[in-house]
Amino acid sequence: MSQYDVIVVGLGALGSAAAYHAAKKGAKVLGLEQFGLGHVHGASHDTSRIVRTSYNTPEYVVIAKAAYKDWAVLEAEAKQKLLTITGGLIFFPKTGGELNSGQYAQSLKANDIPFEILSPDQVHRRWPQFSMDSDTDAVYTPDTGMAHASRSVAAMQWLATFHGADIKERTKVTKVSTPRNGIITVDTANGRLTTRKVILAADAWTNELTKPLGVDIPLVISQEQVTYFKPTRPDDFEDRRFPVWISMGREESFYGFPCFGEPSIKAAQDSAKNYMDPSNRTYVHSEQLLKNLQSRMNSLIPDKGRQVLRTATCQYTVTPNRQLIVGPIQKHPGIIVLLGAAQGFKFAPALGRVAAELALDGKTDADISNFSIPKVALLNSKL
Ligand SMILES: Cc1cc2nc3c(=O)[nH]c(=O)nc-3n(C[C@H](O)[C@H](O)[C@H](O)COP(=O)(O)OP(=O)(O)OC[C@H]3O[C@@H](n4cnc5c(N)ncnc54)[C@H](O)[C@@H]3O)c2cc1C
Repeated sequence: MSQYDVIVVGLGALGSAAAYHAAKKGAKVLGLEQFGLGHVHGASHDTSRIVRTSYNTPEYVVIAKAAYKDWAVLEAEAKQKLLTITGGLIFFPKTGGELNSGQYAQSLKANDIPFEILSPDQVHRRWPQFSMDSDTDAVYTPDTGMAHASRSVAAMQWLATFHGADIKERTKVTKVSTPRNGIITVDTANGRLTTRKVILAADAWTNELTKPLGVDIPLVISQEQVTYFKPTRPDDFEDRRFPVWISMGREESFYGFPCFGEPSIKAAQDSAKNYMDPSNRTYVHSEQLLKNLQSRMNSLIPDKGRQVLRTATCQYTVTPNRQLIVGPIQKHPGIIVLLGAAQGFKFAPALGRVAAELALDGKTDADISNFSIPKVALLNSKL
C-alpha cells in the first residue's frame, strides 16, 4: 500500500500549482518543501511576475492562453485578485536583434491574440513616459499584465490544503527511488514515504534528484536581481497609465512594471549572466548590473529625479533553449518533471494542472509535445 497518490517535491509556484490541482482532483497529496513556505531562496518570491501571451513561438501562446483560464479559476476559488492586466509593450531593434516584431505578429495572429505594432511616435503619444530609439518598434498586447508572485503561491498552497493535501515545509527530499510495482519510495530528511506518483518541481535543484533516475538536464543557474525605483511622479506610473514593458536588445534585454501595491516601479535586466550554484549563492546584488539597468532606464524611461529604493535577488534556472518542461521521465512514467525555465510563473496554474492530469489520469488534453524532457538530458544508463 502506498501512503500517497502523489508526492510533489518543491513548493514554489509550479509545485504549489501541482499540489493544488492534484488535491482538487481528489487525490491523496503530499507537498514537500526543503525550506520554509514563502522563502526567498528560489524563483517564486517577491511581488510581481509578467503574465502575457505575447510570444514569438505559437506553442507558448497556446499554453499562455490556457493559463489565463486557469488563473481565472484560481482567483475565483481563492476569492482574491491575483492578476492585474495593464497591457504590455515589447520593444525591438528593427535590425540586428535575434527577435523582431514580425515574428511576434505572426505567432499572435496564428492564435487570434489582439495586438498592435507601434512606431516610437505612436508609443510616445500614448505613453509619454517612454522615449524609444528611432530604429525600434514595439508590439502592444492588451492582455499583458502582472501576477502577484508571493500571494499567488500562498493562495495555491492554501487551496491545496483546503482540498485535503498535506503540506510539509522544512522537509528536504534526499532521494526518489525508481518505481517498483507501481510504488515509488521517497526519502526525506525526516523519514521514508511511499507514493504512486511523484511530481518533481525542484527547479534549480532538479538534477540532484533526477540524476540517479537517469536524467541530467543541462541547467544554467544564475542569481538575478530586480530593483525598485521611486519615480519623480509616481502617479504617471500607476497601472492604469503605464504598461508592463520588455525591451529586447541586440545584446541585453530588460523589463519593468508599473506601480504595484506601492508607489515604486520595478525593473530588471533579463538573464544577467551572474552564474552561480544555489549552494554558494551570495544574495549580494551586483552594482555593475544595477548601473546597466539604470543606464537602460535613463534612455527608455527618462526621469532625472528617479531614485533607487532597493534591490532584491532571485534565481534563474534556464533549460536548453529556455524550454518549459512538463512531462514524465520516459523510463519512469510515474515521475513527472516540471521546470519553468526562468519564464514559468505565468504558466504555473496551467503547468500544475497538466502535471496533475499526467500523474492521476495518465494523460492530458494539452499539447505538451514541445515541452518534454530534452533528449540531451537522458543519461546513457540502465536506470
Ligand atoms: C527575478 C525573476 C523574474 C522572473 N520574471 C518572470 C516573469 O516576469 N514572468 C514569468 O512568467 N516568470 C518569471 N520568472 C520565472 C518564474 O518566476 C519561475 O519560472 C518560477 O517561479 C519557477 O517556479 P518553481 O516552483 O519551478 O521554482 P522555485 O520557486 O525555485 O521552487 C522550487 C522549490 O523546490 C524546492 N526544492 C528543491 N529541491 C527540493 C528537495 N530536494 N526537497 C524539497 N524541496 C525542494 C525549493 O526549495 C523551491 O522552493 C522570473 C524569475 C525570476 C527569478
